[in-house]
Amino acid sequence: MKLAHGTTLIVNGQLIDGTGAPPVRHAAVIVKNGRIVHAGPSSMAPTLSDARMIDARGGTIMPGLVEAHFHPTYFNVAALEDLDIKYPVEYVTLLASANAKLALECGYTAARSGGSLFNIDVWLKKGIEEDLIPGPRLATSGREICGVGGLMDWNPEFRKIGMEGLVLLINGPDEARAAVRKLVKDGVEWVKTYPTGDAAAPDTNDHHTLCMTFEEMHAVVATAHNHGMKVTGHCRATEGIKNALKAGYDTLEHGTFMDDEALELLLKRNVPVVPALFFEQASIDRGPEFGLSQKVIDGHQETLEGGAESARRILKAGGRIGLGGDYGFAWNPHGDYAKELTFFVNYVGFTPLETIKCATQTGAQIMGRDTEFGTLAAGKLADILVVEGDVLKDISILENRSKFIAVMQGGIVKAGKMAK
Ligand SMILES: [Zn+2]
Repeated sequence: MKLAHGTTLIVNGQLIDGTGAPPVRHAAVIVKNGRIVHAGPSSMAPTLSDARMIDARGGTIMPGLVEAHFHPTYFNVAALEDLDIKYPVEYVTLLASANAKLALECGYTAARSGGSLFNIDVWLKKGIEEDLIPGPRLATSGREICGVGGLMDWNPEFRKIGMEGLVLLINGPDEARAAVRKLVKDGVEWVKTYPTGDAAAPDTNDHHTLCMTFEEMHAVVATAHNHGMKVTGHCRATEGIKNALKAGYDTLEHGTFMDDEALELLLKRNVPVVPALFFEQASIDRGPEFGLSQKVIDGHQETLEGGAESARRILKAGGRIGLGGDYGFAWNPHGDYAKELTFFVNYVGFTPLETIKCATQTGAQIMGRDTEFGTLAAGKLADILVVEGDVLKDISILENRSKFIAVMQGGIVKAGKMAK
């Protein structure tokens, strides 16, 4: 991805650096050739001649957001079946490209894929990195892995079709290894697995069931780590969380029903968790409109309460939370990503500063790229949001794209008012 040429000075705003530190009032950020050279009080900034100026209009200067559980290929999903081969790969690729552009316009300068149809996110990343299309800096997942008969294996036998699009179905550790080896050749960075079920499948794979064995999960981790890939998993049931932590998972998606032992295992290895909670609220609020059964809605309610409690306990104990969350469902569409942040402040009870740290620095740590971006400090890439208003007073400002003055990647203004 290209970097800006020349010098840019951003002034007249408070600086939130993404580390959780209190804001710096009257701040200045100086960007030189796409990298930050100063982020701090404007009184301590070197004097510049010949700099391009961005006026934050008394608002906020902060790191670009990181969506830590991004499904670029999900579109208008109203049932599990919609996740797979609803559209041909050609059309899904176009949808993914449009979703990537939208995410950047929403202030998300980086994203980790939480699973993708076919191998689309790998090529999406290439298109973004080569400046062919706009989008967040991506970490790729490609296809996901699930045990036969598990949450993502919904086609009954009579249909005589598998899950070639979204998921590699496995039976036993040998097939788990074989699936990871397929992904090695595809070039994915994260192996996304399904250790547990979900409220979405209440009859055979609900949120307290397991979809993979410990042996299968361990085989995935050993093979993936051998090839320098990381492993994550959809973990709701307590036993599935423990299996993932014992098997050496690098992050947990959801981490819903954590007991004391699970929390201790998590903290021991400092494994980040991406709860993705607004999806649960949206499923409860809008489920009836989309024909979700009461059983499914009740399951989402239980998941929401369990997940929120686990997130609070993790943060309080010094663990790491990344923010992101399954946007792309009919009732939780792409473009709503920042609702996750508002929800964590208003419902879960994180402070705005904690929430922003989760959505910036921790996201970058999850991607393994926190030395490059995720905080505003000298030497980092200038992936910066300049926003009208005080986001610490009203975090929901970040949901409103019309409040963005500039969304910058590598010092180049890609979206916001100044891009027009
Ligand atoms: Zn997901």
